[in-house]
Amino acid sequence: MSHSIIIAEQDTHFFGDVCKNFDFAAQFTDHDPGLLDQIKSCNSVYRFRFPIRKGNHFEVIDAWRIEHSQHQSPTKGGIRYSEMVNEDEVMALAALMTYKCAIVNVPFGGAKGGIKINPKNYTVQELENITRRYTVELIKKNFIGPSIDVPAPDYGSGEREMSWIADTYATMNPGQLDAMGCVTGKPIALHGIAGRREATGRGVAIAIRECVSVAEDMQKLGLTTGISGKRVIVQGLGNVGYHSAKFLSEFGGIIVGLCEYEGAIYNADGLDIESVFLHRKLSGSILGYPGAKEFRNSLEGLEQPCDILVPAALENQITEANVHNIQAKIICEGANGPTTPEAEAIFYKNGGIIIPDMYANAGGVTVSYFEWLKNLSHVAFGRMNRRFEENSNLNLVNMVEGITGTALTPMQRATIIKGASELELVNSGLEDTMIRSYHEIRETWKSNPKIDTMRTAAFVGAINKIAVSYQTLGVWP
Ligand code: NAD
Repeated sequence: MSHSIIIAEQDTHFFGDVCKNFDFAAQFTDHDPGLLDQIKSCNSVYRFRFPIRKGNHFEVIDAWRIEHSQHQSPTKGGIRYSEMVNEDEVMALAALMTYKCAIVNVPFGGAKGGIKINPKNYTVQELENITRRYTVELIKKNFIGPSIDVPAPDYGSGEREMSWIADTYATMNPGQLDAMGCVTGKPIALHGIAGRREATGRGVAIAIRECVSVAEDMQKLGLTTGISGKRVIVQGLGNVGYHSAKFLSEFGGIIVGLCEYEGAIYNADGLDIESVFLHRKLSGSILGYPGAKEFRNSLEGLEQPCDILVPAALENQITEANVHNIQAKIICEGANGPTTPEAEAIFYKNGGIIIPDMYANAGGVTVSYFEWLKNLSHVAFGRMNRRFEENSNLNLVNMVEGITGTALTPMQRATIIKGASELELVNSGLEDTMIRSYHEIRETWKSNPKIDTMRTAAFVGAINKIAVSYQTLGVWP
């Protein structure tokens, strides 16, 4: 790699936290310290600035793309649009992507991008200019491409931004057959994949469902098994938070609290997620929702009675300052880095468990992987075999009915005959990935009493897999 490395002097809190967790987990592996150091470091840090025209003035935008590890290609990770974004944060998020991909067996290295803006302060036209210029800067330095580095949505970005990136990349690379695989999280009409938008939240809900299905663990927490009736508080009503809440209530959980930056609402009898979402859309705030108790200080919402807390907004939300007040027994990290290491230690000491971010929110990258596969194969999942399967199933049903003399009901026939759609295949792959990975992490956790948390267990598994990649790929002599 010939990428330039520029590391600015600044607060190294978040990346430092990730490295602290890594170092703790590394003692449960037997790898060479140099190899561990290579796995932990950020390989390529590209920091750049570019101007955009805003009205009659120019404004200079700060931006980053950081590739944490190229032990697998391409590297992969979202682009964060936030005025809070900084180099330390992007490094931490890129590192988490490396471990996340290893945990769910997605064959990518980790990366992350950041654009230091508050999207709310820009017109759509300006956001398009910023996104396209950001993409051109990545192209110039070889920091984007279907086999190099593949961005995705993150906090503050979505399908619209991904389609601008895809279009810019394709325009600058005429004739490149796989150009659409340069970014994931695109709209379905523009080479995206069914189920990507809701994938992270669906994954969070499956992770929780799996966690509460283990009787031994629930007994220790003083909870019954099963999601049905469990009280849930969700922080963040964006992509991850909204979909987590939606699927958790579909699975039988009761959403008792919702927290946004303007405040929080709570109702012990349950909140209807769609109705709160609509209320916020119309009024601009979750506050004022009929029948709910409300808190102007959003963080107070996290401290209300519940069984499960899903922070799905930003990092550093659960700290030493508020962890003692958290009443949940299970924290499932929809966001990246919402719990500080100090708060995590206290939470476990108080008898809770944390389903760690790098597993819990891996549903997004899992389905992004499916989207990338779809882009490289240039055919939608299920397109070639769906009708064939339906015809075969129909023949079988007709034959069995003929032999047995029993007629199935129209509903039974339809259920048996049906071939899988793209969405069903994607959801099936996502569910399988989340369930398998949960038990892999849990087995590691239970295999050694010194492995204190699920996060440590997840790190141990990730480090072992990445170490194998470095050794077998010959990157490490
Ligand atoms: P988003 O922009 O769609 O939503 C974030 C939500 O959090 C917004 O509604 C915002 O108003 C709210 N919020 C901001 N500050 C808050 C505060 N202080 N208190 C309460 N709410 C606040 O972003 P997203 O894509 O849902 O991402 C959220 C988190 O999930 C981030 O940490 C991101 O890195 C992580 N994540 C996202 C994906 C994905 O597929 N989008 C995948 C993995 C991880």
